[in-house]
Amino acid sequence: MTKNYLMTPGPTPVPEEIRIEMSKPIIHHRTKEYQAIFKEVTDGLKKIFKTSGDVFTFTSSGTGAMEASVVNVCSPGDKIVVVRGGKFGERFGEIAKAYGIEVIALDIPWGSAPCPADIEGILKKNPDVKGVYTTLCETSTATVYDIKAIGEIVRKTQALYVVDVISGLGADNFENDNWGVDIAVCGSQKGLMIPPGLAFCSVSEKAWKAVEASKCPKFYFNFKKYKKSMLDTDTPFTSAITLVIGLKKALDVINKKGVDNVIAEHAKQAEAFRQAMKALGLTIFSKSPSNAVTAVNAPQGIDADAIIKTCKTEFGVTFAGGQETLKGKIFRAAHMGGIDREHTIESIKAVEAALAKLGYKFSAGSGVAAAAKIMG
Ligand SMILES: *Cc1c(COP(=O)(O)O)cnc(C)c1O
Repeated sequence: MTKNYLMTPGPTPVPEEIRIEMSKPIIHHRTKEYQAIFKEVTDGLKKIFKTSGDVFTFTSSGTGAMEASVVNVCSPGDKIVVVRGGKFGERFGEIAKAYGIEVIALDIPWGSAPCPADIEGILKKNPDVKGVYTTLCETSTATVYDIKAIGEIVRKTQALYVVDVISGLGADNFENDNWGVDIAVCGSQKGLMIPPGLAFCSVSEKAWKAVEASKCPKFYFNFKKYKKSMLDTDTPFTSAITLVIGLKKALDVINKKGVDNVIAEHAKQAEAFRQAMKALGLTIFSKSPSNAVTAVNAPQGIDADAIIKTCKTEFGVTFAGGQETLKGKIFRAAHMGGIDREHTIESIKAVEAALAKLGYKFSAGSGVAAAAKIMG
């Protein structure tokens, strides 16, 4: 049987040592034993987020944390700024609208990063904005945003700074506290190397003031409930025990290496993958490419979905396609979490083989050679 290489930007491969942890017998969550694990996980997450503030763990996919970051600080009728340069930026706007919150959209072309001065302009014109909602890595376009530079602007205002780091955390640089982020939202199935099912929110002091004033309806994702339970290193509802145990192992792995070293490894893989594609004569979709994921333009006359299908059925390599207007135009390869050198090389081999099969002309082996030169 062909070995399978999961190269999608979520879920990502779960390393064996983490899968083994999660196969152990279940324990009860209202116990000292579990609370010790949960404390370690919470402390481990703070290291990766680079925050000394609160980090809460929810049982949901990443979108649950996105919703929490809206309903806990906003009230119906509030205004928020949303950077819309792809599917996930758009999602913040959809959530806000569902709760009667007005969205001031900064629409940017897919594949480009927002210009911080544009956000400054919007905030000057709208001093009553409740929050600026944006994304570290916009996964749908494989684009990293300058979260630090935007933070310099937002921190000088009364607006909160909310960043979706679901795919970027652990692959692109991120410093929650130093960059003035008030709420960062994350999920488990991307850079954190565990299956889908957990979501996280960091919450700053500035954000807590807004939590007190917020009038949006909420029950399950109420930050105050999580804060109260955290006093006893506990969760208000049944914890996703097995996933948290897996996460403890994953965080051990990341923090033992050091998150900056992990980011450097993924940066190298991402660069190797991009250089490989260029060596094959292909181009990169994003103007500001992320380390977490790469979007590659299919060559003229070849459908990106045909490349994806051939890689999957014949070589066991699973890439993601483009969404909406990008469907059939790009394929996306992740470099985050458990994706390693072997995945990177094998996936490049599959792209070469698929392209050859689809009649595209290039110098065989040049992609793998370019990547190997960078990764060693
Ligand atoms: C994957 C992803 C999400 C959505 O997460 P779900 O776990 O599918 O709810 C949101 N934002 C970004 C940037 C993502 O990459």
